[in-house]
Amino acid sequence: MKIFWAKQALLPDGWASDVRVDIDAVGRIDAVTVGAAEVGERVECLLPAPVNVHSHAFQRAMAGLTERRGPNASDSFWTWRQLMFRFLDRLTPEHVEAITTFVQMEMLEAGYACNAEFHYLHHQPGGVPYDNLSEMAERVAAGAEASGMGLCMLPVHYQFGGCDGRALGDGQIRFGNTFERFQALHAGAVEAVKALPEDAGYGVAPHSLRAVGVEDLRQYSTAFARGPIHMHLAEQIPEVEEVEAHWGVRPVEWALKNMGLDQRFCLIHCTQMLPEETVALAKSGAVAGLCPITESSLGDGIFDGVRWLESGGAVAIGSDSNIRIALSEELRTLDHSQRLRDNSRAALATVEHSTGRRMFDSILAGGAQATQRKSGRLEAGYWADMLTLDTASEHLWGRSHDTLLDSWIFAGDDRLVVDVWSAGRHMVQGGRHVGREKIVAGYLRTIEALKDAL
Ligand SMILES: [Zn+2]
Repeated sequence: MKIFWAKQALLPDGWASDVRVDIDAVGRIDAVTVGAAEVGERVECLLPAPVNVHSHAFQRAMAGLTERRGPNASDSFWTWRQLMFRFLDRLTPEHVEAITTFVQMEMLEAGYACNAEFHYLHHQPGGVPYDNLSEMAERVAAGAEASGMGLCMLPVHYQFGGCDGRALGDGQIRFGNTFERFQALHAGAVEAVKALPEDAGYGVAPHSLRAVGVEDLRQYSTAFARGPIHMHLAEQIPEVEEVEAHWGVRPVEWALKNMGLDQRFCLIHCTQMLPEETVALAKSGAVAGLCPITESSLGDGIFDGVRWLESGGAVAIGSDSNIRIALSEELRTLDHSQRLRDNSRAALATVEHSTGRRMFDSILAGGAQATQRKSGRLEAGYWADMLTLDTASEHLWGRSHDTLLDSWIFAGDDRLVVDVWSAGRHMVQGGRHVGREKIVAGYLRTIEALKDAL
């Protein structure tokens, strides 16, 4: 049992003062009392900590290394592809575990409490499975155990090199499985999750419309009867054109007609949608998993957040390529993209709520929905996924309630995050992960071992 007392806290029905929060021994919130006498550990500003709904952990080690062009000026993916191939020739399970632990440490320090890992690096270099088919998934789970971060394991089914069903290319063979072998791998990954603390969960992830067969895509929601289903959708123009060329309709239309999209689904990116697709997909109940920093980095396009939220759509935030781990910056980038496109200000604000408040409320709910994790609310029965902000900082001094959130997101950065708890585990204290030294040392050893490939 642990008791906190917050001068101000963001509760499901809004800001409250003098809030007592009781946490039980497994990390669930036991009771929330407003207007309570000061007791237990005092914090100034207590917020629910959101979920990071989309990450490919191993890519963190490639961040910053793909900013050059190759010999063909029109091929902006050239350096990325070259590096990825070299990298994939070298990565071992030990490397993946060390990188995963490191990036999750950074996510916790940024204010996220849980990581939905879209895990697709399954096999040995050359594509032969490890003796233990789910070896890599076990390494991802081991990373979560070491970092103390909540995990939603999303093993990825990746089978084809394109909509025509062509074989995987050299850079993809470590990802590939038939549906049958993928089901076996998934079962092994589920076992790895069961060995983690009770808050850990799992789902499933057909990689994209290009990488999985039509018949398999149609049966996903019945083949996997429980848990969230995540999939990349409508990220870039060539992908939209390829789906349209092969199946006669655009990706969003195909998914809506064939996949039974509902609240179980989280569709990643959705940066290439027509206005009518945005409205229809929002109304399906599926979450849009947005990764604004990566989408900016890759030039994917701009998600229509204004129309999506107006249509009642759910959103969540992920860090995808992990080129930067920065929660407040993801939100700022999302909002700024809307302003730049529309020549507007405070694009995502409403009459009732400021931009920061509306985005933060939205990603708390959307992240919980997308991982089926009971989180995102300071309320009895929910996991104690929580963070505090440094209200003594010059960037937040004198600010309260929604203006405090706005100041963090638009005028500050993640250095204002002081404490983070994941299901009651107090992993970030004074702005630093409690295991930072050891985790960074393990990461640096990995980078040293990979330096010839990077
Ligand atoms: Zn992705």
